[in-house]
Amino acid sequence: MTLYIFTFALGAVIGSFLNVCIYRMPRGLSVVRPSSRCPSCGAPIKFYDNIPLLSYMMLMGRCRTCRAKLSARYPLVEFLNAALYVIVLNRSGFDSPLVLLVYCIFVSALVVIFFIDIDYQIIPDVITLPGIVLAVALGSTILPDPFFRTDLLGWKSSLAGFLAGGGSFYLIAVLGKAILKKDAMGGGDIKMMAMVGGLLGWKGVILTTFMGSLFGSVIGVALILLKGREWGSRIPFGPYLAVGALTSLFWGQDIMMWYLPDGAIILP
Ligand SMILES: [Zn+2]
Repeated sequence: MTLYIFTFALGAVIGSFLNVCIYRMPRGLSVVRPSSRCPSCGAPIKFYDNIPLLSYMMLMGRCRTCRAKLSARYPLVEFLNAALYVIVLNRSGFDSPLVLLVYCIFVSALVVIFFIDIDYQIIPDVITLPGIVLAVALGSTILPDPFFRTDLLGWKSSLAGFLAGGGSFYLIAVLGKAILKKDAMGGGDIKMMAMVGGLLGWKGVILTTFMGSLFGSVIGVALILLKGREWGSRIPFGPYLAVGALTSLFWGQDIMMWYLPDGAIILP
């Protein structure tokens, strides 16, 4: 229990840093310096006003200096990241702290991608390029297969995932451009899926793409019906892929078990 509380608190603290990344990365600013400031008046935020979740509640969502309303997204991102860390701990156990650490970094990267892609329709290379290298390196060596947790993913699955993720989305981009005569798929999605593939393997690419498309169509249709969005209006795919990747990471094995008949032999 103590471990879960600690993990939640750590997730909230890192979530507070992710807010800085989400705000500054697309603007090309340093995520380290300067320290956090109020987006309205520019007043530096005191350390005692920068406690994740709690400060927002105590200040009633307003800046202490200028009383401007602070976006509810700040505590939301902190809570979301904290909750995801708890799920990572719950799903992976504490047997391998290194795997736990890698998965926590992965889910945090997905949180940042989720919000930056919603805001700007871009997925920053700063995340995906080092992410691809790390994903293949760690996926080939220490990470378990999310679809068969007692086994390691292995370099063949990791490399196949990298190629399947990057390759299939590259193909969609090329075909989409040829057929629709406009950019159907951004370069950011290609790099993101290459990273996801390296970390989750080729099965992860299939499930992530499937779940991402499913969430995308359900929410896309809902937006068209409820908010009167037009068909074919630019909807970023990255956020849905991020949710798909999280689903694959956490519940890939369970989802696969639903579809497999009892006693089926699982191919490597
Ligand atoms: Zn202010």
